[in-house]
Amino acid sequence: MTSPQQFTSLESALCTLFGEGTKVEATRPISGGDINEAYGLTLTGGKCIFMKTNTKKNLSFFTAEAVGLTAIARTKAIGTPHILGVGTDEGRGGYSFLLLEFISGKSRSRNYWEDFARQLADMHRSSTAGLVSDGKYGFDSNNYIGRHGQINTGRDSWTSFFRDCRLEPQFQDAAPYFDRENQRRIIRFLDHVDEMLVEPEYPSLLHGDLWSGNVVTGNDGSAWLIDPAVYVGHAEADIAMTELFGGFPPAFYDAYQEAAPLQPGYERRRDVYNLYHLLNHLNLFGRMYLPEVRQIVGRMSAV
Ligand code: ADP
Repeated sequence: MTSPQQFTSLESALCTLFGEGTKVEATRPISGGDINEAYGLTLTGGKCIFMKTNTKKNLSFFTAEAVGLTAIARTKAIGTPHILGVGTDEGRGGYSFLLLEFISGKSRSRNYWEDFARQLADMHRSSTAGLVSDGKYGFDSNNYIGRHGQINTGRDSWTSFFRDCRLEPQFQDAAPYFDRENQRRIIRFLDHVDEMLVEPEYPSLLHGDLWSGNVVTGNDGSAWLIDPAVYVGHAEADIAMTELFGGFPPAFYDAYQEAAPLQPGYERRRDVYNLYHLLNHLNLFGRMYLPEVRQIVGRMSAV
């Protein structure tokens, strides 16, 4: 996957992208993110662009995000903001940045949810050739889910990939939350992940962090994807995540099911997929996610 254009200052990025002498005329903070600071920048001439910033050493958050957006855009199945570039700047004590097309989509298209479901199904069914360097599932570079690293080492088995590269590293980080009895239960649980999940009918490029905050109304009124944590896996992992924090309207699920029917037993597997995100939240945001994690592990290891 090609890397985004990289700059050594915001000024050089703006001059290269928009012409000599282009400056930031106004900066407006944008709320809603969990990890980075976000801004709308109004440039000389009135154009608006979107910028996310973090510390200089976290530039890799943004290169990984740009690589993920590029992978999604290449499917031509669904909208994403155009990537302008990434870089670092020595100002304000030093920071890294990601520049994107500004999304100001205001009104949703008529069949927004049905169209979104069909476009997502198309993305899930697009070719994954060249996305995983060694194996069928994974991705050719590691990336992040929130601030947490995602190991994307290729595997030929989806169930092994999900156990070894998704659940196990999160359980390892969360170890201080579990006593010995719970640790034993987790080991038993991980030993049985192969029986709980199924291999997909086809490998899919996944958004990887598909909750409602990462689906926005794009500049054409259709649903656009932002802030991905892409990898190649089983499409139902994306669908499971849409259900974790509230879910989308029934029209979305009906249209997705019609376009790309889920394999039987999805409802039984949903919790195993979402355990990954709950563990990630436990590791990033703290123990309020512990009861749900314990509940799923207890329920699944008793099966
Ligand atoms: P974080 O990486 O911190 O989670 P997000 O990607 O969620 O940040 O973005 C932070 C905020 O900026 C959210 O409210 C999101 O909707 C908004 N946003 C993200 N991308 C764009 C964009 N290209 N144009 C305008 N707003 C955006």
